Amino acid sequence: MESSGRCLCGSIQYQIPEKPLMEAVCHCKNCQRQGGSAFSTLAGINKLDFHIEGKPKRYIDEDTDSGSPVERYFCGDCGSPIYSALPSQSDVIYLKTGTLNDTSRFKPSAHVWCSTKQDWVQLEESIPQLQKQS
Ligand SMILES: [Zn+2]
Ligand SMILES: [Zn+2]
Repeated sequence: MESSGRCLCGSIQYQIPEKPLMEAVCHCKNCQRQGGSAFSTLAGINKLDFHIEGKPKRYIDEDTDSGSPVERYFCGDCGSPIYSALPSQSDVIYLKTGTLNDTSRFKPSAHVWCSTKQDWVQLEESIPQLQKQS
């Protein structure tokens, strides 16, 4: 069974496999800025298993803490962040899981970039917290 999702306006729709490669929460400043929120929730998906309809806009984010550029794809009509990709990992995309129709299966296995986590955000101690990226 696949999971599906869409941007706020619906001009971008996608399907992903039931089991992502990994799931994590990113607290980096650039995710906060792009999403206008406290963190981003990410699922790593094999590019071949990511079926997307519609054409997201791409922003190449060069000013990152890691020093490596991040390609950020979003809906050009409503602005929903859809996924990110790293040029160094050409076969994986990182889906922004808040756009899934059913978010109940999301279970992060790590928190990354906790060095810039917002102070009010309380994390479960059982989940590994990395100060920077994994
Ligand atoms: Zn949209
Ligand atoms: Zn981030």
